[in-house]
Amino acid sequence: MEIQTLKNKRIGIIGGGQLAWMMAGAAQSLGIELVIQTPHPTDPAVAIASKTILAAINDALATAKLANCCDVITFENEFIDLKALMSIAKQGVCFRPRLEALAPLLDKYEQRCYLHAIDLPQPEFTTLEGEADHETLVNLRTQANSPFSKFPLVLKVRRHGYDGQGTFIIKNNISLKKTRQQLGSTPVILEEFVPFERELAVIAARSITGEVAVYPVVETQQEEQVCRRVLVPAEISPEIVAEVEAIACTLLNSLQVVGVFGIELFLTKSGKVLVNEVSPRTHNSGHYSLDACETSQFEMQLRSVAGLPLGNPALNCSGAVMVNLLGYEYSQHDYHQKRQKLSSLPGAFVHWYGKVQSRPGRKLGHITVLLESQQINQAQVIAKEIESIWYE
Ligand code: ADP
Repeated sequence: MEIQTLKNKRIGIIGGGQLAWMMAGAAQSLGIELVIQTPHPTDPAVAIASKTILAAINDALATAKLANCCDVITFENEFIDLKALMSIAKQGVCFRPRLEALAPLLDKYEQRCYLHAIDLPQPEFTTLEGEADHETLVNLRTQANSPFSKFPLVLKVRRHGYDGQGTFIIKNNISLKKTRQQLGSTPVILEEFVPFERELAVIAARSITGEVAVYPVVETQQEEQVCRRVLVPAEISPEIVAEVEAIACTLLNSLQVVGVFGIELFLTKSGKVLVNEVSPRTHNSGHYSLDACETSQFEMQLRSVAGLPLGNPALNCSGAVMVNLLGYEYSQHDYHQKRQKLSSLPGAFVHWYGKVQSRPGRKLGHITVLLESQQINQAQVIAKEIESIWYE
């Protein structure tokens, strides 16, 4: 389809990691060029960009330059300087999602306040102004019926947390004291610990005309607060699916957002669904969509941002399992042999981000295995097989 709304068919992306890199295929088929703002020449998306502005993500002057060579700017990374970008937006630069829609989401406490304001279910939460805010914590811990009186508790830094960096599950007083000391004056959010039965996630997109597309609800499995596997679709009742879809629609419509969002949720034993976190961009829990859906989350982002009709988020197969290939050592190895072995698994698609340096926990790539209907209950076994090849 001809793109009516983009003059030069160039989209600027703030961030040059794997999320931007994975937009390459869709950009090519839509005839869109990607211009990237990212700090390092070795970042994955530099290789696929038609032009790169080498600058920090929060460098708004660099974003002004980015704006000069594209029609619209979108995000693969939310560690931006929103205030500085607002002044650029006033000069007529088009951001999608618009900055007002991002504003309530960038700080975990403000995000929770927004979810509360639009009445979406979530864990109990409050904010603490750093280590010195001792009295508030003592009160919270000792009040009758306080959701924070018992361990475990969850502490999260309000900004710039990712892949579990900045999220701490606190099991006792010693760990509470140690973590607070470690965080010093950093403002944090305190959350009740949800003894979830499963973690769920969903990707949703909204177009400039207000059309919303919701992907299948998936199960995510985290270890040490880092996503290890995604099972598609989640084995949950149609009622829970409907509830998650309704949450996604409410959120995207109330923000009047244009773009793709990743929403992470908890499912409790009693069947309650609670929102864990909203990411205003494509998300790791949607990587399976590259191979397993009619339209990937990356194409969906480009379509929505370019003002095109959304694509079809449905699965093109019975199911899938996605496993993150996380670094497990400091190395510059390219793990060619292991990747070949993984690629030879039936139905497998290996995506290798081409990062120069591996370190423990770093996302180096992922593999998606498409499942036939009789294999759906084998997802966990296949994930184990993949991990035994990768981590040996
Ligand atoms: P990040 O922003 O770094 O991804 P999250 O807030 O998503 O951090 O937390 C990472 C993981 O920590 C979650 O996927 C979940 O396993 C665990 N977690 C986070 N908050 C809670 C909570 N309130 N109760 C129980 N587990 C939690």
